[in-house]
Amino acid sequence: MSVACIVVAAGRGERLGEGCPKAFVEIGGRPLVWHALRAASGAARVTHVVVVAPDGLEGDPALAGAVAVVRGGATRQHSVANGLAALPGDTEVVLVHDAARCLAPPELFDAVAAGVLSGHDAVIPGLPVVDTLKVVDAAGRVTATPDRAELRAVQTPQGFRRDVLERAHAAAVERGDTDAPDDAALVERIGLPVHVVAGHPDAFKVTRPQDLLLAESVLARRAASV
Ligand code: C5P
Repeated sequence: MSVACIVVAAGRGERLGEGCPKAFVEIGGRPLVWHALRAASGAARVTHVVVVAPDGLEGDPALAGAVAVVRGGATRQHSVANGLAALPGDTEVVLVHDAARCLAPPELFDAVAAGVLSGHDAVIPGLPVVDTLKVVDAAGRVTATPDRAELRAVQTPQGFRRDVLERAHAAAVERGDTDAPDDAALVERIGLPVHVVAGHPDAFKVTRPQDLLLAESVLARRAASV
């Protein structure tokens, strides 16, 4: 079965404060999206990678190796939809991955793809949460404390049967939803089950400046262990 991966890299990433799109901030001397593309391409089960790039950066050399590079949209959901439209025709399974989770290892892509290939409609990686989470109302008052044992912090790559993800995106357009937090949420909205597999600590999202330091330390650890 043909497994394609869409790497979304078209966000602005202002919280990082580096003055260029987040996916083009560098760690280890290479842009985040280069690391993400390399990990996706290194997964044994992934046959094609499509990158969704910010305006004007579609031809950047960091994106060499992608089967297609398409332009991003106003929201992450739009960017994924643009990637879906560019998938090779024979794609049966699609993984969607945030370029900002640039150090997710190839094994995680393979584990998620394996879950879909084994029959699940949708598979996402998740880790137990370490903080106690509260539900808070607009006035700042706590309204609930969910049981931590039931919660997972979810990551990407998220994997789907291609027809399921296309249906979920089409239903979102019909409802007028434009800014889903992730692709699994769109599948949940059409009433299909989403299966969680073990996430990976290296698949954290580079969001704040301190995440760049963490990413550099992961690269250093990997370099020391080869
Ligand atoms: O902003 P955030 O870190 O949540 O974005 C998650 C991923 O989605 C990032 O890799 C970002 O580049 C991508 N994105 C996108 N198009 C957008 C917004 C975000 O490709 N309009």
